[in-house]
Amino acid sequence: MVEGYQAKSAWADPTFAPLASDALKSSEHVDLAIVGGGILGLSSALHAARRGLSVRVLDAAQIGDRASGLNGGQVIPGLKYDPDWLLQHFGQKRGEALVRFASSVADDVFDLIVREKLDVPHQRNGWIQAAHSEAAVRTAEQRAKQWIARGVPAKVLSTAEVTRLTGARGYLGGWLDPRAGAIQPLAYTRELARIAIEAGACIAQNTRVTSIRRTNGAWIVNAVDGRSMSARGVIVATNAYADDLIPGLARTLLPLHSFQIATAPLSKDLLSQILPEDQVVSDSRRILVYFRKGPDGRMLLGGRGSMAEPVSSDAWAHLEHALKRLYPALEGVTIEKRWFGRVALTLDHLPHVHEPEPGLLVAAGCQGRGVGLMTALGPRLVDYFVSKDPDLIPFPLTPIRPIPFHAFRNIGIGAAIAWYRLIDMLER
Ligand SMILES: Cc1cc2nc3c(=O)[nH]c(=O)nc-3n(C[C@H](O)[C@H](O)[C@H](O)COP(=O)(O)OP(=O)(O)OC[C@H]3O[C@@H](n4cnc5c(N)ncnc54)[C@H](O)[C@@H]3O)c2cc1C
Repeated sequence: MVEGYQAKSAWADPTFAPLASDALKSSEHVDLAIVGGGILGLSSALHAARRGLSVRVLDAAQIGDRASGLNGGQVIPGLKYDPDWLLQHFGQKRGEALVRFASSVADDVFDLIVREKLDVPHQRNGWIQAAHSEAAVRTAEQRAKQWIARGVPAKVLSTAEVTRLTGARGYLGGWLDPRAGAIQPLAYTRELARIAIEAGACIAQNTRVTSIRRTNGAWIVNAVDGRSMSARGVIVATNAYADDLIPGLARTLLPLHSFQIATAPLSKDLLSQILPEDQVVSDSRRILVYFRKGPDGRMLLGGRGSMAEPVSSDAWAHLEHALKRLYPALEGVTIEKRWFGRVALTLDHLPHVHEPEPGLLVAAGCQGRGVGLMTALGPRLVDYFVSKDPDLIPFPLTPIRPIPFHAFRNIGIGAAIAWYRLIDMLER
C-alpha cells in the first residue's frame, strides 16, 4: 500500500492539528469495538457513544488516510438503483424503507455538519448527472421523474442547461438533484473523529486488527504488537480495505482504485466559466468521471484508475485528457495534485450488511457513494446492535457470499474497464 496519499490530495491542510490517538490498553473491555475509522466507523462510534455505550475504534492507518479522507466530497443521495426498481425488487415494505433511506443520506451529512457546528467547508447546490448519449438522456429523464413524483424538486436538464451549468463540452442533457452537495471530506472525517472522542469514544490509530474471535461470551479483538481487548459487540467497517479479518469478506468485494487530479488554483476568469452555480457533477459513462470545484479555486476531477498502484504521474494521464476534453480552456493549466484511494463495489451494486455471528456486524460496498451512505448507516447499525430489530437496517442482512473466481478479479476488471471505455467512446 502506498502511504501518504492524504498529504498529496487537494484536501491536505497544514493547519489541521494532529488528532489525539489513544493507544489500545491490553485487558480493555468495551461495549462496542469498531474496526475501521472511516466515515462508517466514526459515525457508528459517535452514535454509540452518545447512546451511552463504551466504544473503542481501531484503525490500521491514520484517521483520514483512506477513502473517507481522500474522496471527491460529493454528497449524493440515492443508490445506483432508482426508486421504482427498488420497490419492484424488494417489495413494498423493504423497498420503501430503502428509498426513504437513500433519499435522506445527504440530509444526514449536512444536518450533522450544521447541528454539530463542524469545521467542514460545505455547500449544498445540488448534483448534476450529465448524460453523454441519447440513451443516457432518457435514463436521466426517467430518474428525475421518479424522484419528482416523490416530492423531490429535481430538474431535467436540456443540452443548453447542462452546458450552462457545467461549462463543459459534450453533454447532451442530464438531471439536477438539489438534495446533493459538496463537503471537504478530510475535514469531515477528522471532525467526525473529534466529536466521537468528545462523546467518549477512544480511537487508536495505526492499530491493525489481526483477528476477532468469540470466547466465553465476549469478542476478543487482537491487534498488532500482541495487544488485545474484549468487547460485547464488534462492527467491522473496513470497506474496500477489507483484509482476511472476516473470512470471505474481501472476496465479496471488487476493490477498485479511484484516481483524482486537482489543477493549480484557477484565475477568476476561468473559474467563472466553470460550474458557475457550484454543483458537483458525475457523468453517465460506464467508466464515469466526476468533477467539482475544490479548495483554493482548484478544479478537481476523478475517475477509475489502474488496479496496479501508480508508479508515475502517467497513471493519471487519462484524467488530464478527460479534463481538457470537457474544458478546453484548461489546456496548459498545471495539474498540481494527484492521488487515489480504494472504492468497494459489489456484484449487485448495493451495500452489504452481514452478521456472521450474533454481535458481529459487517458493512461494506459503498459503490463510490459512501459519504452519505456510510454516515447514515452507522447509527442504524448501532441501533440494531442495541435493539436487535432488523427493520432498523434498511438493507437485508445477508450471508457473506464470496464472488466466484475472485482471484482473477484484476484481469476481469481490467478487461471490463477497457471494454466499457470503448463502448463509452463509440456512444459519444
Ligand atoms: C478517490 C475516491 C473518490 C471518492 N469519491 C466519493 C464521492 O465523491 N462521494 C462519495 O459519496 N463517495 C466517494 N468515494 C467513496 C467513499 O470515500 C467511501 O464510500 C467511504 O469513504 C467509505 O467509508 P468507510 O468508512 O466505509 O471506509 P474507509 O474510509 O475506506 O475506511 C476503512 C478503514 O478501515 C481501516 N482498516 C482496514 N482493515 C483494517 C484492520 N484490519 N484493522 C484496523 N483497521 C482497518 C482502514 O485503514 C480504513 O481507515 C470515493 C472514494 C475514493 C477512494
